[in-house]
Amino acid sequence: MYIILLGAPGAGKGTQAVMLAEKKKLVQVASGDLFRKALQQETELGKKAKAYMEKGQLVPDEITIQMVLERLAEPDCKNGAILDGFPRNIKQAKALDKALGQKSRAIDKVVYIKVSEGELIKRLGGRWICRKCQAPYHEVDSPPKTAGKCDRCGGELYQRTDDKPATVKKRLKVYFEETAPLIKYYQGAGKLLEINGEGNVSDISQRILAALH
Ligand code: AMP
Repeated sequence: MYIILLGAPGAGKGTQAVMLAEKKKLVQVASGDLFRKALQQETELGKKAKAYMEKGQLVPDEITIQMVLERLAEPDCKNGAILDGFPRNIKQAKALDKALGQKSRAIDKVVYIKVSEGELIKRLGGRWICRKCQAPYHEVDSPPKTAGKCDRCGGELYQRTDDKPATVKKRLKVYFEETAPLIKYYQGAGKLLEINGEGNVSDISQRILAALH
């Protein structure tokens, strides 16, 4: 099963992807996490992606598509995956459809997590991420049990540099211009499930699970 989580930065894709991956016994494939790992390890891929990420721009399609398709070809993805942050534009969506089609597979469902712009800005401001397992937290809405420590793995929490106000603004602009058209694309394919992404985390999880049923 292949499920895409679609939504703006701050919509809660990461949080819900972790939940869905556990429930469905599937791997979470988050393009942003793959890039951040490459950046940390200073690989060629990381060096290519760095400038784009820092500016809140999309990394060029050729680089991104190759990275994600290679990840999806790994053995732990043989039963499918929860895709988080990919595809981010129509070109990536078509490349994904084509690659899955070649293996006689297809995207099953696209969960579009809808959140108002004001709420997105508020959320991104207070976001903390685990350095080790990437689980996201929020100072106000979903704080960790112990400050600065991940509930799941005990890892150290940090704030992403691209969560600063100017970059957040740019990332949201990129989302509305390039990624939002995917809503229509997957609606047309009869795969879109629209979920109200506001409220508490567990209610949103329940909405997603109910819609997928
Ligand atoms: P995210 O963690 O999904 O917010 O991604 C962080 C950054 O990684 C984005 O602002 C982009 O620079 C880059 N990135 C992640 N996913 C993609 C994608 N599918 N296409 C292009 N760039 C991406």
